[in-house]
Amino acid sequence: MKLVTVPFFISHQGCPHTCVFCDQRAISGASGVLPTAGQIRDRIALWRSTAGDRPLEAAFFGGTFTALPDEIQAELLAPLQPLLEVGTLDSIRISTRPDCMDADRVAWLSERGVRTIELGVQSMDDTVLAASGRGHSAADSMNAIRCIKNGGLKVGAQLMPGLPGDTPLSSLASLEQVIAAGADFLRIYPTVVLQGTELAQRYAAGTFVPLSLDRGVSLCTLLLQRAMQAGIPVIRIGLQADHGLDAESVLAGCWHPALGQLVRSQLYADLLCRYIQPGGCVTVYCHPARLSDVVGMKRVNLQSQARRGVQMQAVPDATLNKEELKIQTEDSTVTYSIISDLHYSIHEV
Ligand code: SF4
Repeated sequence: MKLVTVPFFISHQGCPHTCVFCDQRAISGASGVLPTAGQIRDRIALWRSTAGDRPLEAAFFGGTFTALPDEIQAELLAPLQPLLEVGTLDSIRISTRPDCMDADRVAWLSERGVRTIELGVQSMDDTVLAASGRGHSAADSMNAIRCIKNGGLKVGAQLMPGLPGDTPLSSLASLEQVIAAGADFLRIYPTVVLQGTELAQRYAAGTFVPLSLDRGVSLCTLLLQRAMQAGIPVIRIGLQADHGLDAESVLAGCWHPALGQLVRSQLYADLLCRYIQPGGCVTVYCHPARLSDVVGMKRVNLQSQARRGVQMQAVPDATLNKEELKIQTEDSTVTYSIISDLHYSIHEV
């Protein structure tokens, strides 16, 4: 049964750093005030009432949970303990920095019901990390992932392609390193230039050139496919639009409110172009959950096939898995996979 996540945004709380890209207020939409015990209980009760039998997870996003003073961490987790005991709540997730994690902290969190830890890895290239003011190294990320895995918890890695000094090659290397280290899932947040950040100043001065949307989509498409090939879920691509991000706060960079759909759609578009010959009528079958990705935003994939003289219709087929497309022409019916039947080169990004 699919997990229901109850989000608590703790904003910039606990973080002693100022990464060049970070404006936590813009991302979380919160004022930096931590939720009270009563607010935590009330929100869990509300979500429980609508979640039915589905398991419920409380998630502290946005800040650096394990850099908060110990007593604050304990205060945030305390109201959740009775709920875990009676089964109202099933688990807790936190997010933090790689250099704020060690085996003792993992054990302490595990005893209090934390089952998943998300790390803001961003890059596994020390030059990129330094140029981005992260204040930690790739070795810190490796160490944190190891500690969390050894403690029996799930670990997610957030990656941020397009940071200062980053290249498509180093983005790919970062992804491959966190997968090899044992990350259970990924989030990919291409760098955006937010108002009020150090990056905004560099952008204005012309010393930082962000990824464009098109280039970011190409890069994320390749990264997503690599993660799929490794069997690692990418649970989010692109910052969420509903947390204070809008056309005014985003000055530049690879941002779109539905970036994940653009990226998935690109995978299918590439498969269609690769395996459909120009001209003629084609029926493309796909998993029902992927129909909108196959068609593309504003039917872009159908239109690009039409420009090749292909009259294409997309039809849902629940017998296919989400990565498959069955392409039926007058002469043949062949099933392809976006995982194994597309071959991207990082040098083309
Ligand atoms: S570590 Fe996280 S919260 Fe702190 S400044 Fe960097 S991005 Fe923002």
